[in-house]
Amino acid sequence: MQIGIPRALSYYSFFPFWYGFFSDLGIEIILSDKTTKQTMSLGASLVVPETCLPVKVYVGHILNLLDKGVDKIFVPSLQSISPKIYNCSKIRGLPDLVKSVVKKDFTIIDATLDKSEKNQGLYYFLLEAVKPFGITDLSRIKKASKNAWKVYNNFHVMTRSGVPYSQALKYALENKVIISNTQKMYPINVALIAHGYNLYDERVSMKIFEKLEKLDVKTYTADQLTLEQMNEGLNSMHSRLYWANEYEITGAAAHYIQDKNIDGIITINAFGCGPDSMMLERISRYARKLNKPILNLSIDEQTGEAGFVTRLEAFVDMLYRKKRYGIINKISLKPFTENKEVDIKNYIN
Ligand code: SF4
Repeated sequence: MQIGIPRALSYYSFFPFWYGFFSDLGIEIILSDKTTKQTMSLGASLVVPETCLPVKVYVGHILNLLDKGVDKIFVPSLQSISPKIYNCSKIRGLPDLVKSVVKKDFTIIDATLDKSEKNQGLYYFLLEAVKPFGITDLSRIKKASKNAWKVYNNFHVMTRSGVPYSQALKYALENKVIISNTQKMYPINVALIAHGYNLYDERVSMKIFEKLEKLDVKTYTADQLTLEQMNEGLNSMHSRLYWANEYEITGAAAHYIQDKNIDGIITINAFGCGPDSMMLERISRYARKLNKPILNLSIDEQTGEAGFVTRLEAFVDMLYRKKRYGIINKISLKPFTENKEVDIKNYIN
């Protein structure tokens, strides 16, 4: 029994769960390869140009799985994962989109999860996902979902403690929990705000974590926050929950905008993304109100790395200058006292 899973969209949020679930039932997972330029261009060639980059990438990953000979591909329709909170129309209609643009012979496993209109339970969704393999025994499904939650929760324990995404994923799939205790200090701290698929897909985000590390910048993401912290962030902006990604985008951004240890915010959003354009407008206004520098990076398949790096470097350079001026101003405001050495550490933060 084999199931293909595209390394795109919901993979970046839920793969630990899918892995724990399918592997417990003895279903082998075949993943598509990492995104390349070709994945993007093949996907883009099948959909209308206005489609957002993550969906083009997703279609490219379906083609990659078909090239590998996989005949059953998991394309869930995640309508709504909590009551009255919805995904965007492209994610909701993903199975239909894939059926209409990929004209090849294969089975789409299009289980639907809808906690709003249909108030569907998770077990019903999981049952739909494994029916094509002849598995209908609810007690097996419940047992497998228990394992799925275990892998998923282990993954989140690690990301919350600051373990980088790829390492946390590797350990979680190996059934390990390794907590990070690195205390390396960085001169600049930046919060990266984006959907998982725009952040952790190295081709899409152009290895932004590596680039910022080279500039001596420490990065923070929504994965390091608890639901309560993101909720407080949302409340501080008087924002109502509507989009499924409201926590990881608006909630996380508002939390980091208020955090005095964070020097700046960088957002990455796909060109043409409706929900992001609304959320980012509110985030930018809030950042301006609290005087927190913010850089909005918009990406599509044409985005060149050179321009991306130039904007990133200019932003980080500005953050260094702002921090330096802040320290100098603090020093000059202190009255001069003879015979006392000035310890620069007292003036930082
Ligand atoms: S939320 Fe935006 S980027 Fe994500 S699939 Fe929907 S339109 Fe595309």
